[in-house]
Amino acid sequence: MVQKKCVPYGSDVSAGTYECGDCGHKYSNQSKTSLPPCPNHKSSTHTKNCWHILSGQGDAPQDPYPNR
Ligand SMILES: [Zn+2]
Repeated sequence: MVQKKCVPYGSDVSAGTYECGDCGHKYSNQSKTSLPPCPNHKSSTHTKNCWHILSGQGDAPQDPYPNR
């Protein structure tokens, strides 16, 4: 089973786009250096408490050097 990397709330990250691992809420991080909790966070629906990296300079599985 392939699991997308899930980055816990509060992790240090760089700018990029993230998606809530629990509800799918998309979050565009332009300047913050750590991830906030999901704005829709509820303990009943949010059990992973993490964000999937959609784009940006996280540990993206895609080619990190598109210009090469
Ligand atoms: Zn959420």
